[in-house]
Amino acid sequence: MSVGWLRACALVMLGLFSVSALAKDKTAIVIGGGLSGLTAAYELQNKGWQVTLLEAKPSLGGRSGMATSEWIGNDKTQPVLNKYVSTFKLSTAPAPEFVRTPSYLIDGEYFSAADLATKQPATADALKRFEKTQDDLARSIDDPQNPLATSTLQTLDQINVSNWLDKQNLPATARQLINQQIRTRYDEPSRLSLLYYAQQSRVYRGTSDRDLRASRLVGGSTVLAQAFVKQLKTIKTNSPVSSITQDKDGVTVKVGSVGYQADYVVLAVPLRALNKIQMIPSLDAQHMGAIKGTNYGWRDQIMLKFKTPVWEPKARMSGEIFSNTGLGMLWIEPALKGGANVVINLSGDNARVMQAFGDKQMVDQVLIRLHAFYPQARGSFTGYEIRRYSTDPSMGGAYLAFGPGQISKYWRLWERPIQRVAFAGEHTDTLYPGTLEGALRTGQRAASQVEDLAAGKSFEPAKVVPAAAAGAVAAKKGNFFSNLFGGSDDDKKAEPVKAPAPYTPPAPDPAPVVAPAPVEAPKPATPVKAEPAKKAPAKKPAAKTDTKKAPAKAPVKKTEPAKKPAAKPAATPATETKAQ
Ligand SMILES: Cc1cc2nc3c(=O)[nH]c(=O)nc-3n(C[C@H](O)[C@H](O)[C@H](O)COP(=O)(O)OP(=O)(O)OC[C@H]3O[C@@H](n4cnc5c(N)ncnc54)[C@H](O)[C@@H]3O)c2cc1C
Repeated sequence: MSVGWLRACALVMLGLFSVSALAKDKTAIVIGGGLSGLTAAYELQNKGWQVTLLEAKPSLGGRSGMATSEWIGNDKTQPVLNKYVSTFKLSTAPAPEFVRTPSYLIDGEYFSAADLATKQPATADALKRFEKTQDDLARSIDDPQNPLATSTLQTLDQINVSNWLDKQNLPATARQLINQQIRTRYDEPSRLSLLYYAQQSRVYRGTSDRDLRASRLVGGSTVLAQAFVKQLKTIKTNSPVSSITQDKDGVTVKVGSVGYQADYVVLAVPLRALNKIQMIPSLDAQHMGAIKGTNYGWRDQIMLKFKTPVWEPKARMSGEIFSNTGLGMLWIEPALKGGANVVINLSGDNARVMQAFGDKQMVDQVLIRLHAFYPQARGSFTGYEIRRYSTDPSMGGAYLAFGPGQISKYWRLWERPIQRVAFAGEHTDTLYPGTLEGALRTGQRAASQVEDLAAGKSFEPAKVVPAAAAGAVAAKKGNFFSNLFGGSDDDKKAEPVKAPAPYTPPAPDPAPVVAPAPVEAPKPATPVKAEPAKKAPAKKPAAKTDTKKAPAKAPVKKTEPAKKPAAKPAATPATETKAQ
């Protein structure tokens, strides 16, 4: 064979190879390294995309746990989470039987659910009655993906949960515990849309606590984030995105003065963080309204560390302990070397009221309250870790919790991509906002939307089923709606629409009378992973060119998009709870 012939063959082969390489060179930038962004990046990379993940902070994992013993549901209730747990071969430990139902700390005394029934029957009965009313509320929604189906349900969106609770005349202790449960899982009842509460109750209806708290990830939910990180080729931490510019050829994402180009973007940051990113062209008024107006629950977490347990031994390892005074929801955390940790979850207005305090002062306040119930607390105290999601500008709150009127305005808004940008994040999930499962689901959804966009599909607004006559629903659910609106007549009109309650600080919790205990300097929560060694940025930077980060960009095919309904049918409503 002549040399010329060999060279010709080699050139043809090379040509073929580079054409096929070019054809595969689909590029995407994922903004946000929480679980939703990590999932989107992982799924796209698996489908052959060249992905660059940009994360503002030095570490990855976003809001996923500080704790090491948060409970996760089984695969019936959290199928997506469990799928990744098994894909990455992560270890789980089954939940002991006694953590599977909530318990209570009433005026400092610990009660299991069984204790409560015998020792405080009035409170236990009121909680049971409330559960029944909540179940009736949940049953008023046929399809949790379409909570605005009737005008009666639309009216629920204008009522806040606190007003609804007021009508139930609950005894004081039961009401405090119910308030605590609602503010831990969502937000302060006065800030929560009754329709949102109904929709979420519908999603979790009939789910047993056993399924919700089935096991825990050994090492906490950070190990899940770490597992994704290990798989990803290109991650850039310390890279806060400041703008996203879209045009017909692609997207340019700016981090300071450095620009990255790609075909598509997955935007997986919470709404308050999105507010800080300039979008060119800018978003429409509805999206801007949602960014600024959508309510996020407040929940901050403080882990207090002690030399030895200062609480009753029987309270050890309980799943969720709801307190009626000042300590929010807490649980006992396994600790190394004979120590003992408790995680205090301050939420709703209990957390808002602490907004003005620095970390150390906030810890002092909590320690004082704990000390009032457990006099050994101060002497045994060794230190703390703290996560203040609500005042962190990259989070701006714990997670989505629609306030009154907000479902009517923003339902499924973020499920629809805008040109070349698909949205992910717990706040974009219809069924499981505020959960790991929700975050993972939206990462998958956004990745598949990017594939669809690349295939030339377009996304139409989610169709809301036209409102049925309110009367029809009222007739079907007569007693429930009658009770809800405070009358016995089925035809009675709904309570007039109320504006969300303005923020008024809650009545002060037990007064901090003692001098604060000394605290050690805060320790940062363990970072998931620093910036990984192998980094090959997806695209050539647009502005200051960093040649290492500049693979050639394949031309974007101009396609006339085919029409496609926006929303994919969700899986059968599974169930999950915020077990932290
Ligand atoms: C206190 C608390 C307790 C919880 N308990 C539970 C529980 O028990 N069970 C459960 O299932 N779920 C729980 N959750 C919810 C769960 O943690 C979240 O739903 C999930 O972690 C959210 O993931 P995400 O990817 O949507 O957002 P995030 O984790 O917030 O990720 C967003 C990422 O974007 C980054 N970012 C922001 N701005 C920019 C920018 N400009 N450029 C680049 N990056 C940016 C952020 O730094 C962050 O890393 C809890 C949440 C909180 C706050």
